[in-house]
Amino acid sequence: MKCPVCKNGETRLGTATLTLERGQLTMALCHVPAQICDNCGEEYIHETAAQQELDQVETAARQGVTVEVREFAAV
Ligand SMILES: [Zn+2]
Repeated sequence: MKCPVCKNGETRLGTATLTLERGQLTMALCHVPAQICDNCGEEYIHETAAQQELDQVETAARQGVTVEVREFAAV
């Protein structure tokens, strides 16, 4: 798709690192499928892909985890 940020680049499928914060928890999610602009580098992550991970963030936060790094596993 055309990049809505710079309006010049085209996005290509790649992977990005998604950082989520919930209370005292910071979670980094690596290799999430994303569309990445080849011009400005803006990352567009599919929300459906991230949604199930958000549920896991909530669970980890309740368990008192403060920092967590995960690989995106759903394929
Ligand atoms: Zn762009």
